[in-house]
Amino acid sequence: MDKGTQTPRALQGVFPPGPDHWVGDGFYVKTVFWPQLDAQMLSPFLLLDHGARKHFDPSAVRRGVGEHPHRGFETVTFAYEGEVEHRDSAGGGGRIGPGDVQWMTAASGIVHEEKHSQAFSERGGDFEMVQLWVNLPADKKMSEPRYQPLLDREFPRLQLGAAEARLVAGNLDGETGPARTHTPITTLDLRFHEDGTSELELPAGWTTLVFPLEGNVTAGPNRAPIAARHFGVFDRDDDGAVQLHASKGARVLVLAGEPLNEPVVAYGPFVMNTREEISQAFRDYQSGKMGRLL
Ligand code: MN
Repeated sequence: MDKGTQTPRALQGVFPPGPDHWVGDGFYVKTVFWPQLDAQMLSPFLLLDHGARKHFDPSAVRRGVGEHPHRGFETVTFAYEGEVEHRDSAGGGGRIGPGDVQWMTAASGIVHEEKHSQAFSERGGDFEMVQLWVNLPADKKMSEPRYQPLLDREFPRLQLGAAEARLVAGNLDGETGPARTHTPITTLDLRFHEDGTSELELPAGWTTLVFPLEGNVTAGPNRAPIAARHFGVFDRDDDGAVQLHASKGARVLVLAGEPLNEPVVAYGPFVMNTREEISQAFRDYQSGKMGRLL
């Protein structure tokens, strides 16, 4: 079919975020979606926290979240402003700054801390970040932890109508994002450089989620609104192109992935397939099997 006459992919629903809250003393976020909302609709994605732009005064103490574990999934941190520094029990760690992404696979278990960097703490400034949780399929949940620091300059740039895309993971328009994923996932962000439309050819049958970090977006055949910091879910069975309309300056995170079709049991920092596996995760953490921060 001629691309120009194709009906845009249908928008299945739009959901508001939860209330603002602190994660530790460093991240003032809204939880945009979470597993208990509808784990199968979101799969393979689990949770999205967005800390909108916020000013932090200089501080002698590094703000953030102290030592805590994860098992069974991946945490993906997008730094938009400011700097985040991570350190984990598997020897991973590093600092990510504006435009960078850290793709951390907790898998069988890690213990880590997530804080503002030393330099950012000392000078203060504006801070904006996203943390996304990506589920792992049952047969990868107990695999080795992995850490991928991805720099802004590594992301291919694509011109998609009125927006420029930065491709973090997966394939789009003949380009491939640098992040390695355990299941098929395409992740990108868009920045609208003018009022207009951006069209994305994403696989049918996948979960497709759209999150405007800033600015309002409309989508679908009826141009339904997706307000800033809400998220839209597209119809999985519709093979039409994902069409997004927005004003200049809008910024949008797009998450697409093949659903896992497995049970999701999420409890605190652990996401497994059964309650027994969650209990085991608590026992393994308490007995030190996920390591300790040195
Ligand atoms: Mn964490």
